[in-house]
Amino acid sequence: MTQRHISHPEPLPDCAAGHSARHIHDLRSIAAGGGHFVECRCRATRKHADADTAIAEWKRVNRPPRAARKTEAPAEADNVVQLLMPLRDAGAAAAQRRAHGRR
Ligand SMILES: [Zn+2]
Repeated sequence: MTQRHISHPEPLPDCAAGHSARHIHDLRSIAAGGGHFVECRCRATRKHADADTAIAEWKRVNRPPRAARKTEAPAEADNVVQLLMPLRDAGAAAAQRRAHGRR
């Protein structure tokens, strides 16, 4: 077996389905299909040459759904409106300037 289980002082976060995760180091080279990856019963990251990259991918993929998401969504919608309004106003102002310039 070329795979080694690497234990962490700080345990890896569970997957989104709640399985405990393991950091595995496949001792073969990346070219031979080895590398660092994190897996649970239902999913695994890709293999990476760097352990930190594999763990970062695991955390990104299994980011827990945040309780605050419901309040975040309207805030994002507000941002879009705030971004679009000045653009539209600027366009109208420019059109007005062009119209006045012709006179
Ligand atoms: Zn899982």
